[in-house]
Amino acid sequence: MNNFKKNNSAESARLQQLYSVSYASLMSSTLLGVILAYIQHEVIDAAIVITWLTLLLVSSLFRAALAYNYQQTNVDDDASKLWLFRFRLGVLVGSLVWGSASILMFAKDDLSHQLFLIFIIAGLSVGGVVSYAADMRSALIFSSATLTPLALHFFMQTGNLAMAMGAAVTLYFGFIIISLRHINLTITDNIVLRQEAIKREDSVRIKEERYRLLLNHSPVGIFHFDTHYSITYCNEHFSDILKKSVAETIGLNINDLQANAILPTLTYALKGKTLQFEGQFCANASDSNIWIDMSCAPSRNADGKIVGGVAIVRDITDRKQAEEMLRISAIAFESQSGMIVTSADSVILRVNQAFTKMSGYSALEVIGKTPNFLNSGRHNKSFFKAMWQTLKDTGYWQGEIWNQHKNGMVTAEWLTISAVKAPDGRISHYIGTYSDITQNKDAVAEIHRLAYYDPLTNLPNRRLLQDRLGQELAAANRSGMFGAIMFLDLDNFKTLNDTRGHSAGDQLLVEVARRLRSVVREGDVVGRLGGDEFVVILENLSSDAKMAALLTKQIGEKILVTLAKPYIFENYEFHCTTSIGIRLFRENETVEELLKHADLAMYQAKTAGRNTLRFFDPDMQAVVTHRANLEKELRSALELDQLKLYFQPQLCQDRKVGAEALLRWQHPERGLVMPLDFIELAEKSHLILPIGEWVLKMACAQLKAWENQNDTHNLQLAINVSARQFRQPNFVMQIQDILSHYAIKPERLKLELTENLILDNIYDTVEKMHLLREIGVQFSLDDFGTGYSSFAYLTQLPLDQLKIDRSFIHNIGCKPTDAVIVETIIGMAHSLKIEAMAEGVETPEQLAFLEYHGCAAYQGFLFSQPLPIQEFEQLMLT
Ligand code: C2E
Ligand code: MG
Ligand code: MG
Repeated sequence: MNNFKKNNSAESARLQQLYSVSYASLMSSTLLGVILAYIQHEVIDAAIVITWLTLLLVSSLFRAALAYNYQQTNVDDDASKLWLFRFRLGVLVGSLVWGSASILMFAKDDLSHQLFLIFIIAGLSVGGVVSYAADMRSALIFSSATLTPLALHFFMQTGNLAMAMGAAVTLYFGFIIISLRHINLTITDNIVLRQEAIKREDSVRIKEERYRLLLNHSPVGIFHFDTHYSITYCNEHFSDILKKSVAETIGLNINDLQANAILPTLTYALKGKTLQFEGQFCANASDSNIWIDMSCAPSRNADGKIVGGVAIVRDITDRKQAEEMLRISAIAFESQSGMIVTSADSVILRVNQAFTKMSGYSALEVIGKTPNFLNSGRHNKSFFKAMWQTLKDTGYWQGEIWNQHKNGMVTAEWLTISAVKAPDGRISHYIGTYSDITQNKDAVAEIHRLAYYDPLTNLPNRRLLQDRLGQELAAANRSGMFGAIMFLDLDNFKTLNDTRGHSAGDQLLVEVARRLRSVVREGDVVGRLGGDEFVVILENLSSDAKMAALLTKQIGEKILVTLAKPYIFENYEFHCTTSIGIRLFRENETVEELLKHADLAMYQAKTAGRNTLRFFDPDMQAVVTHRANLEKELRSALELDQLKLYFQPQLCQDRKVGAEALLRWQHPERGLVMPLDFIELAEKSHLILPIGEWVLKMACAQLKAWENQNDTHNLQLAINVSARQFRQPNFVMQIQDILSHYAIKPERLKLELTENLILDNIYDTVEKMHLLREIGVQFSLDDFGTGYSSFAYLTQLPLDQLKIDRSFIHNIGCKPTDAVIVETIIGMAHSLKIEAMAEGVETPEQLAFLEYHGCAAYQGFLFSQPLPIQEFEQLMLT
């Protein structure tokens, strides 16, 4: 069988059969030989019997060895012939030994022994023929070699019986040969049939095995079900889908799985139709929740009757997820950023709508081209070379790029390029993402402009000026060339602003800026510090200080002339002059210092009568130092109780009706410091707020104290209020609180405000004055006539008094125009029903003039200097 497996030709099968019967035939042959020897030894010489038997045994052993060797050997088709020959040789040897028995063991005169011999040989030959019938020749050799000597032996004897025996043996031989042919054919057919059957079986088995392997290793799940929806077969893949073993799955009913989505498809198959299902497979009974694609077909028996169905299930979860990812990618691709996909050799394969919007090119226009058409020409070759090098090295590049729109416009874009690599590491695509940053750039520029430039005039603002001044200072320091800073302040700006409104003021500033730029050189800096203050920085003037000053003076005078020219607006003309403070620079100084000095020089120019220029000089430095020291000391003056109030009487028709409280600073070294020397400083450093509050409290305390004395209980007290103090949001409340704290009648308190303060913010002023007026507080307009005395605002304000500035009073009798002004102011006050008070009355002539023109209230040295409280009260007694 083993051999047969390896060699399945008919010849081998025949040989196999021949050898496989060898042992049985040899056994029976040997046994028959022993019996024959035993029976014949009674009539045959023992030596012959033993010799024959030995020959038989030897031949049998030889043949058995042959058969054994055959079994042990792997016999192929070629070797079969040799083994067949060996077999036939064995048969020949065996049959010759048996043939010799017809002569050697033949008992001449003993019929019974003769018959026994014939019986044995005939039987043996039949057995041999049957055993070796698979091979005609072996059977022929065996039958002829065993029967021929017997037949010859009879024919050689005399007598009819011997002849008849010889003839019978011959006939017998003939009959065997005829039968042999038939047996041989039958055996050969059998062998062939058996072989074919084995082959068929084998092929079926192989097919089955293949089918089983196929099903089990199939990437799809397969199951068979019967008409009751029970699973009759499934492969491993399907049981995996259900998260069960094959054994657990077979026998399950699909209804029990609660996988309702697939049931209609199975039912369709049972009705003889095929249906495809794609969807989610949620088998509640098996925790399975995947996407599947299922096709189902009916299965029929031999009669064509539907006995169930076959379903093929594919897990398409990955595909679905991939589709989902693709969908997301597609949406992402159509994002707000322009996107472009190219091949490895930069040929455009795909662009999105944002790209079309940004570049102006449609997809059709660009697909198949390289992105070179976007080139704005603003980048040189080395830019692109560096870009490609980075891409090659890192697979990534990002940066700003100027691209050209289809309409020719050049836009700034932020470009990110990523190289897409294939699994083998080769670059397969590039993806470019563009975002338009032109607007960002504009915004950055705008932010820069707002931060460093004055929005109205577009000139550098304070911050940029300081920066530039620092640079110029450093440059001058290095080069040894003087530079100069000019501090400009318009003399009549406020007037225009107040009378014509802010837009007129703005127009003036814009025009001033334009004129300034036109006067100075290209490299010089013109900036606006704020309000009506401008700065000009001149560079590289000269290494000689005098020469530098001369040049600066020339430029400064040119500026004065240019800015003094009339400003023609829509329906009016405006005249404005400028005051300029100049500071030369070259040495190592700070920007702040330079600005401060130029500012100071500008004030000098103002004091000198405006429309002029002044250089900063060492005397000014002394003033600066003095002011700095004063400011420091003033900070502690309040705490050290160095501030005092002096009182100057105010009279009405010779009657002392009140006083003005005037501030004095009792300085330990400087002596009595007058308000003109420190009020402005206090204003600038904000110290005026605590000082002003102190004055208010002291005044109210004094009024309270006067209440109890007969001579003073009706007196009114006027105090001076500074602009910063008045502008405090809680000013009204502060006054109310103090008045109620000291419990004094508000009518006895008079607040002196200046025109400048009132006009600075007329709305705020009107509101606060009315609020205070409602509770009874009185108002006086101080230094009237020095500012912009407008009839219009006078009517809006709840004023009780106009205090004619002492400069006009001073000039009564020596400057007729001032006398006229005084007269006018008195008349104006009368017509507004406001009391007119003259301050700074020093002479009886002045008094006479005032009385003559109807001014009944006075204050001045003619009556009294401002006095300390004791002296003032003393004076009241007289
Ligand atoms: P003002 O309010 O106009 O005060 C009147 C000024 O004229 C006082 O100067 C006073 O001494 C001076 N004066 C009075 N009569 C005569 C006179 O006949 N001839 C001359 N030549 N001068 C006369 P003072 O005390 O030096 O004050 C100057 C300015 O300081 C005040 O002018 C006022 O604006 C301010 N001031 C004084 N005290 C205070 C205060 O407490 N707060 C605020 N904010 N300012 C104050
Ligand atoms: Mg005053
Ligand atoms: Mg005054």
